[in-house]
Amino acid sequence: MTDRTALIICDMLEDFTAPGAPLEVPDARAIVPAIRERLEQARQDGTPVIYINDAHAPDDSEFSIWPPHAVADSPGAQVIEELAPGPGEHVISKTRYSGFYDTKLDATLQDLGVNHIVLTGVVSNICIMYTAVDAHQRGYRVSVPEDCVAGLDPDDHAFALRQITDVLKFAQT
Ligand code: ZN
Repeated sequence: MTDRTALIICDMLEDFTAPGAPLEVPDARAIVPAIRERLEQARQDGTPVIYINDAHAPDDSEFSIWPPHAVADSPGAQVIEELAPGPGEHVISKTRYSGFYDTKLDATLQDLGVNHIVLTGVVSNICIMYTAVDAHQRGYRVSVPEDCVAGLDPDDHAFALRQITDVLKFAQT
């Protein structure tokens, strides 16, 4: 089967990337150029681009685990300017780690005829990994380019990439 690819950009939001932000991922700024390059390539090639963004209620139960972040419609929930969605690009809100949980991601991918996703953004051992697991369970092929994902902690980041390659058998390209 020929690949029909979509580029997914996960949680590249102010609250994960700005210095001093509630859930600042230390390496998030460093991966912006590599994601930007893929974004520009996708736009040139007509590859669908899908954003999966945290958009929490102010009293979301996730805030018992993490400091409050990415409250829907707040400035912190905005995609950073360098990677801002363009016209016709899909923006899907999520409230849990997996981009598939209680969202229209699966239906959107099916509508687009996508069977391969390139997963980029943060956090590698949280939303990236749980989204990769759910993609695996739904039969998608996934690529997780190492230079396009970042974690909160180097050990957790390395663990996530190992699970993604060794257990899910997804490529790091
Ligand atoms: Zn969250």
